[in-house]
Amino acid sequence: MERPFCAFCYASSDKLLKCGQCLQRLYCSAECQRNDWKTKPGGGCHKLYCGIAGEINVDYEIKDTGKDGVGVGVFALREFDKNDMILTERPILKVVERQLVSHNINEIPKTAAPLFESLLPVDGRFQQKWDKNAMDCTGEEDAKKESGLFLVLSRINHDCLGNADHQYLAHRGIKILVAAKHIPKGHEITISYLGSFKPKHERNIRLLSYPFHFICRCDVCTNDELDQKLARTKDLDRAILTLGAKGKIEVAMRKGRALLSLYEQLQQSTWLYQRTYYDLFQVAITKKKYYKDAMHFMEKAHEAALAYTQDPQHPQVLRLQELLISPETHRNYRIIG
Ligand SMILES: [Zn+2]
Ligand SMILES: [Zn+2]
Ligand SMILES: [Zn+2]
Repeated sequence: MERPFCAFCYASSDKLLKCGQCLQRLYCSAECQRNDWKTKPGGGCHKLYCGIAGEINVDYEIKDTGKDGVGVGVFALREFDKNDMILTERPILKVVERQLVSHNINEIPKTAAPLFESLLPVDGRFQQKWDKNAMDCTGEEDAKKESGLFLVLSRINHDCLGNADHQYLAHRGIKILVAAKHIPKGHEITISYLGSFKPKHERNIRLLSYPFHFICRCDVCTNDELDQKLARTKDLDRAILTLGAKGKIEVAMRKGRALLSLYEQLQQSTWLYQRTYYDLFQVAITKKKYYKDAMHFMEKAHEAALAYTQDPQHPQVLRLQELLISPETHRNYRIIG
């Protein structure tokens, strides 16, 4: 991990080329630089995120956490503001969930082998490394669940309320890591491994069993008040659509506002705001009386999706933009009622 490596193929070398624009991203060859610039799956999308996304050993570093049994982690080398893109990364291998075969190991580029080998468990078999490190790569419009292996993102440690959040952009073939809150220089960057929020006992069971095997001692796990606040976000989140379906729009909107204010207190990811604003739109657009509220929610949802992805072509951004222009295309639209 000491020697710098190519941002595209992970070949490590002391003689790397720099991107001529940001003067930060490193490449082993002009070919890797060209491939990294491409914005379609298979490319690195640096054209979109040159000078926007952080770079290794400039904005963040991989180093030992000094904590027993944890190993390395990813640390901020500068402060990040909420919604700053910490990094973007392409999977070195992606498969439909549960369809991994041992032969897939041959698809990992030779240049990436040393970094792959250093993934936990260090002496583990391919399947064990995959289970411990693979991350969700299911796109917005994908029916099949997919997961992928990332060589930098996989070094990020768990926290039940991570200070960063990730999203796979299937139309780009990359994952983005976005700051959920302000991250001071020197702090460790963390994400939750558990997807949606789960009660403490469920989290403990999941994290203690295969493939994780650790006891979480994050702020949420050691502070009951914080844990209860997070549990409340889950209840409120569920309540919005349930109440909406029963026609209780006022109450649903009240719950939604309470949820947004909890997000604010907990400094949650902007992607969650996007989801909640969208849910509120879906509820409010069912009655003419709440049309203005609905459009306000949609504006906020669109704004949040764009701030988070910084990609005007993201399917969700496009979908929200269309609803902003033509709300009547939503199946819940009942302007007469
Ligand atoms: Zn390269
Ligand atoms: Zn650049
Ligand atoms: Zn925890």
